[in-house]
Amino acid sequence: MDVIDSLKKIRSSWVARVSNRLARGQDVRQSIQIQLNNFFELMMQAIDSGDTGWLNGILDDWISSRPETELKNDSSSLPDILDHVTIVTHEVASEMLEAGDAVILLGAVLPVLAHAYKYSTHREAQMHIQRISKELEEAKISMDRLDKSKSDFIAIAAHELKTPLTLIEGYTAMLNDRLLNHADITQTGIMIKGINNGTRRLKEIIEDMVDVSMIDNKMLSLKFQPVWISRLLDVIQRDFKEIVHDRNLNLEIRVFPGSQEMTFGDEERLYQAFRNILANAIKYTPDGGNILVDGRQLPGFLETIVKDSGIGIDPEDQGRIFEKFGRLGDAALHSSGKTKFKGGGPGLGLAISRGIIEAHGGAIWVESDGYDEILCPGTTFHILLPLRKDPPDEKIARLFQASIDAESIKEI
Ligand code: ADP
Repeated sequence: MDVIDSLKKIRSSWVARVSNRLARGQDVRQSIQIQLNNFFELMMQAIDSGDTGWLNGILDDWISSRPETELKNDSSSLPDILDHVTIVTHEVASEMLEAGDAVILLGAVLPVLAHAYKYSTHREAQMHIQRISKELEEAKISMDRLDKSKSDFIAIAAHELKTPLTLIEGYTAMLNDRLLNHADITQTGIMIKGINNGTRRLKEIIEDMVDVSMIDNKMLSLKFQPVWISRLLDVIQRDFKEIVHDRNLNLEIRVFPGSQEMTFGDEERLYQAFRNILANAIKYTPDGGNILVDGRQLPGFLETIVKDSGIGIDPEDQGRIFEKFGRLGDAALHSSGKTKFKGGGPGLGLAISRGIIEAHGGAIWVESDGYDEILCPGTTFHILLPLRKDPPDEKIARLFQASIDAESIKEI
């Protein structure tokens, strides 16, 4: 019998048997049978034409459709499939064909399958090399990023820590001189205040560094309790009263729908997040400028908007500012100060604010037409927070329920 006729004769049993070996479920088996029919068709064409390359396309499809996990584990299912194909071809040919026809068929099929093994091994090796090169490239990029962030950290930390340290050092030396020379010590108070300011600033920077590393390591835990955003904003307004007055800024904090409603959140952390954003609005707005805090209530959310008439932020930098050390410009050119105009910080404030807001299930983003210190296009920050009528954690809910119950018992 002609080899093509022999192949046609065994085709349906071959497809059924190979698919039984490869898959258990009925649905999977049906889709495998379609693939195996294609494979068989191409195998016949390869034998008929004497060109084994007919199988390359389907082998490529099978290799590239392998799941990522299989690629990563270096495990391969293709040689296993070809093993089943070879075994079944031998079984079916010996059962269904005359001995002579079976030998002729196997003689024609085996070189085609040998090609399939060789081709798929070669292609898989190529894909492994590609994958490993890609992983190496990615590892290099993240190493470079780590390296950059490490040197940024060292440069910024050195600059930021040096300023308050110099202050402490200077005042301490002056105090020392005066004490040694029994000089007039009427100005001692000023010097001690200077030392205090320096140590407070050092503490703030170190606390910011600890916070950002907790956020990075997903270790920031929130203490949910009833919070009123309008009250937080009032406290912040009071904090900045003096500096707002000194810099002749107009800071208006409006009461907006939802801002006076009780929600559950970590009061201290939310205060920190809002304070950072307000401090930036003050820092990056020239003397005499305006800062407006307003907002609106959305279904399930409260959106607070902090709008300033400051120097603005280039659209291309608007993502970077939320990353740690995402300060813009040259560290050495910044003066150090929390609220001075353009007084630089370590570039951790917004990374912390974003971490806190996201940990609450909220979001923060910025809008600005660009950076211009003369025209001052301004910047608007949007802070979206979920309005929670209950704390998210059941344990806390129970705790609050207990204290509310205790209160109502007391009232009775
Ligand atoms: P920094 O300690 O430098 O203020 P932040 O993380 O608070 O760090 O802010 C990162 C950078 O974002 C700042 O260095 C500044 O360039 C930019 N930025 C933040 N807020 C404003 C604003 N309201 N107007 C203009 N630029 C801002």
